[in-house]
Amino acid sequence: MSEPLLFELSSHGRTGFSLSCLDVPEKNIDTIIPAQFQRTAAADLPELSEMDVMRHFVHLSSLNHHVDKGFYPLGSCTMKYNPKINETLSRTESFAATHPFQEEAEVPGALQLIGELAEYLAEITGMDDVTMQPAAGAHGEMTGIKIMRAYHEANGNPRHKIIMPDSAHGTNPASATISGYQTVQIRSTPEGLVDIKDLKEHLDEDVAGFMLTNPNTLGLFESQILEIAELVHGVGALLYMDGANLNALMGLVRPGDIGFDIMHFNLHKTFSTPHGGGGPGSGPVGVKAHLSKYLPSPVVVNKDGQYRLDDDRPDSIGKISGFYGNFGVMIRAYIYIRMLGAKGLKRVSTTAILNANYLMRILEKTFLLPHKQHAMHEFVLSGDWQLEKGVKTLDIAKRLLDYGIHAPTVYFPLIVHEAMMIEPTETESKETLDYFAETMIAIAKEVDENPEILHEAPVNTPVSRLDEGLAARNLNVKYVADAQ
Ligand SMILES: *Cc1c(COP(=O)(O)O)cnc(C)c1O
Repeated sequence: MSEPLLFELSSHGRTGFSLSCLDVPEKNIDTIIPAQFQRTAAADLPELSEMDVMRHFVHLSSLNHHVDKGFYPLGSCTMKYNPKINETLSRTESFAATHPFQEEAEVPGALQLIGELAEYLAEITGMDDVTMQPAAGAHGEMTGIKIMRAYHEANGNPRHKIIMPDSAHGTNPASATISGYQTVQIRSTPEGLVDIKDLKEHLDEDVAGFMLTNPNTLGLFESQILEIAELVHGVGALLYMDGANLNALMGLVRPGDIGFDIMHFNLHKTFSTPHGGGGPGSGPVGVKAHLSKYLPSPVVVNKDGQYRLDDDRPDSIGKISGFYGNFGVMIRAYIYIRMLGAKGLKRVSTTAILNANYLMRILEKTFLLPHKQHAMHEFVLSGDWQLEKGVKTLDIAKRLLDYGIHAPTVYFPLIVHEAMMIEPTETESKETLDYFAETMIAIAKEVDENPEILHEAPVNTPVSRLDEGLAARNLNVKYVADAQ
């Protein structure tokens, strides 16, 4: 029988964490694990040298495309560089060894970080209070909608509809529907903005709120936002901002100053955490003062310079996370904000906008650009000119991988035919942007000269085109010993 693994973790750091309860005498394994559950033969574990293991994982990491390997202009998702200092600091023991069941008095540092981060987010957006509980943007949407419901019910005025534009991200209608609301979709204008006439036709006293992404998913700033806010508030409804595109606004526009009552943040996007493939995320929700009392309980409050958990919140919508959200993502966001400061955050947004417009003005000569006005941090091309020659947007997306570039978001937003949604982010150099533009132009040339290669792409990747629908429905993941 193998020797039991013993921990030796001493008390340390400002969280005062200790695992002394696991400090069991070495030979006393029977008191921890009943005899019938103990292993009788040694585990058949592979024996490998550190070097073999290192090479194995480095090799594996190079099979997949990721933001540390190459350009990743996945619109809406904001795949920017994630500073490595975030990773190092979020793994320091005093944070990483904190347990959610610890007493409040043992984790003042963690509470201070959560409290200060909420204050920064409020300052950046002009909101009055921010909860850090939601674990993703979509979770934040659901939280925001619960707040909407609590507000209307407290006013003796339950409502049943939530309006959103046809350019909305799929999570918006999903969040409204899962919360029991009827989703009402309104049209965008040919310029890609909210169709005010259509909005007016659908606004009535049964509308709980209007959910809007600003800048919207076409990368366009909703320039009529003040009029929209007035119309929405005119029928007693609330204005919700999907804040996934906040990286275009920081230091330039504050959602709380232009009529939004509620918004969610995507910390993992705007404030840099490695994400994709389902996590990790953090979707704080900010509200204006008239909605503060509905925020999920507990709320981190600052009492006489000490950050504390306040759960004396009779009007709260209740707890929406098992504990207090994804703390590791909050640490990264906190570091990102503190490192950049107010001026740096503004530069994030202005550079993200500059980079997107730079690429857009080059590529509009080769690809159809349906919405031609100045963009914010992303823009949407259409592959319609290439489709006429028998090549789909999906083929272009796959071909980009052969050149070491991840595809843009494709076929979204739904209102652009053969859409390619490109978000370069602020962290890419001009050389990388130029390489991407040259590659897109080279692919367009291939469409004319050698469309077959596009139908077969990718040809340089470990596996070529997969049946993604089948893979999603019939997931079959297994360990293959000779995968190399
Ligand atoms: C990413 C995104 C969401 C959803 O956020 P998650 O954190 O992935 O749940 C919602 N709206 C828009 C516009 C997004 O880009």
